[in-house]
Amino acid sequence: VLALPDMQHQWLPFTPNREFKADPQLFARAKDQFYFDLAGRPVLDAGSGLFTTPAGHCRDEIAEAVHRQLQELDFTPGFLRAHPKSFELARRIAGLLPEGLDRVFFVNSGSEAVDTAMKMCLAYHRARGEAGRTVFVSRERAYHGVNFGGVALSGMVNNRRAFGGTVHGVSHMRATWQEATRFQIGQPDQGAELADDLIAAIRVHGAENIAACVVEPIAGSTGVLVPPRGYLERLRDICTAHGILLVFDEVICGFGRTGEAFAAQSFGVTPDLITMAKAITNGAVPMAAVAAARFIHDTVMEAAPEGAIEFFHGYTWSAHPVACAAALASLDLYERDGLFARARALSPVFLEAVASLRDLPLVTDIRGYGMIAGIDLASDGKPGRRGQLLQKKLYDNGLHLKTTGDCAILAPQFIFSEAHIARMTEILRSTIASLA
Ligand code: PMP
Repeated sequence: VLALPDMQHQWLPFTPNREFKADPQLFARAKDQFYFDLAGRPVLDAGSGLFTTPAGHCRDEIAEAVHRQLQELDFTPGFLRAHPKSFELARRIAGLLPEGLDRVFFVNSGSEAVDTAMKMCLAYHRARGEAGRTVFVSRERAYHGVNFGGVALSGMVNNRRAFGGTVHGVSHMRATWQEATRFQIGQPDQGAELADDLIAAIRVHGAENIAACVVEPIAGSTGVLVPPRGYLERLRDICTAHGILLVFDEVICGFGRTGEAFAAQSFGVTPDLITMAKAITNGAVPMAAVAAARFIHDTVMEAAPEGAIEFFHGYTWSAHPVACAAALASLDLYERDGLFARARALSPVFLEAVASLRDLPLVTDIRGYGMIAGIDLASDGKPGRRGQLLQKKLYDNGLHLKTTGDCAILAPQFIFSEAHIARMTEILRSTIASLA
């Protein structure tokens, strides 16, 4: 049993969650499907950490790869002196992506990936002599990270408000279908015309001023908003018709969450750029990436004179050798154990189990797809309070997941057995029932 640390913590948890500051819930260890608290009590991880750990915690294969890398080559400045694993990883990721998306740029977080993708879009249009294309279109209720680009794209008004005037110009599509997804498991069948929210944005800004449309295929951390059939296809068509780039933010969806390597494949729609993070290293080491279509890379490179730095972008830690080693070991695990196929096979069991909770009096909506689902609870009058209470009680009852507002977000690891799904569902049922 570990000693309880001094609770007057001096590291800065930049969170409005006062409960967390007053009474932080701690994890001391993790293995496979479980976290363990300071007393060694197991807590089933139904959130894959934070959508990061689909192959389970503390996998020896990854730990050993990281250890070996730290003894072999700890750091190399990626823009001057590359190391072979960075090329190998780019090739492996390109092999998982839809055809045409085969240029991979490494960064260190989802937020960096989003801002990097935005700069790539701006650089692409500028290189084509369309520097006027600076407006981005994203969706209400979207989450794209906390850096200046991503916070601008964020569709959560409260995330942006304090930074008004300093963030990039973004138009937020209404995405009307998000309001009408009650008890949907799988893709709701509402028709593609709802993507006309993008047409409305074009009418306001003029297509010639729009750089890109940025969406999560399934909005994850804002409550699992599964698009209706045809919606993403229609966005693709509209973007193509108007010279607007389409960016999928797959920070949560990527690496098997939807049952394919990327949601682009699950939904059969190929964007021009894809951001990815989280599960890229199975949560072991910070890393993220942007994949771009080759034509974007080539256009920018052709326009930039040799040695010019106007399009320069990169980070000291881009393609860090240890992160590359962790990512390669993770991809090896995903492949060796067939974990994306496992996610696809487990999905119906998982979604059915979650849907069985719809009879609980507090449950107002359930949505899901692949290995991600959201359960909305009725507010107790103060939005978010019941969700926070649920999260706390679930921890006490042995289940880890994330809540957003009054929505519980489930994202189990792909190594869950049916028994783990049953245990997750039981704890959810009794805990939600206890809140009524
Ligand atoms: N985009 C999406 C879709 C995300 O879900 C997140 C994080 N939850 C981010 C971007 C930001 O990633 P990070 O926290 O690694 O900066």
